[in-house]
Amino acid sequence: PATAPRFRRVLLKVSGEALMGARTNGIDLETASHISGQVADAVAAGVQVCLVIGGGNIFRGLSGAAKGMDRTAADYMGMLATVMNALAMQSSLERIGVQTRVQSAIPMTTVCEPYIRRRAMRHMEKGRVVIFAAGTGNPYFTTDTAAALRAAEMGCDALFKGTQVDGVYSADPKTHPDAERYDQLEYLDVLSRDLRVMDASAVSLMRENAIPIVVFDIHQPGGLVDVLHGRGVCTIIG
Ligand code: UDP
Repeated sequence: PATAPRFRRVLLKVSGEALMGARTNGIDLETASHISGQVADAVAAGVQVCLVIGGGNIFRGLSGAAKGMDRTAADYMGMLATVMNALAMQSSLERIGVQTRVQSAIPMTTVCEPYIRRRAMRHMEKGRVVIFAAGTGNPYFTTDTAAALRAAEMGCDALFKGTQVDGVYSADPKTHPDAERYDQLEYLDVLSRDLRVMDASAVSLMRENAIPIVVFDIHQPGGLVDVLHGRGVCTIIG
């Protein structure tokens, strides 16, 4: 594309669910490689990209707790699930020649780097994609909040939330065909109308730091680069 991207450095949040493809759990490697291709295109367009990967395709703390597990233990299992997804994305990205580093909020130094903000910054300046694993490292949080936190820490221009649909709708477009898609929303709209695009703590953190949230369809071919150049379909919360 001839035009310069609208964003210089972005954090892309990919939920565990997005990695499932048509499966009901786990990682679909073809879907992972499709997402990697989008990230590779963004890097090639000169955008610095970091990723936060969810874990819901493998384990969610709340479902463990609902079955009687200790909530904190279940949350740690959820965080470990995000590390598996991060390693899958790393290998998928490196297969197509994108340089990456995984940094975990829970140190596991034989597997990946521990999270060190200044080091992560340096990797990004060198054009490497940094994949942040293990969420915030704390139970009772989500990877949405981790994504907002890292986006603020890394000085990102936007938080990109890749979803299964092309933006924020007034109702679930899969069950409500007449639902309205928004091009633009205020942070407070999302919070007060409970639009459920990201959890409230993540939205609040982005509001306090004036970082826009860009909601787009992660499965749309070329979608990420199009949105980065301001020509794709998305909802911008800002
Ligand atoms: N989790 C946590 N602290 C964090 C991030 C995640 O305890 O900072 C746990 C939590 O149990 C959560 C699981 O990890 O259910 C997987 O993350 P999440 O549900 O956010 O993944 P996604 O919905 O994006 O796939």
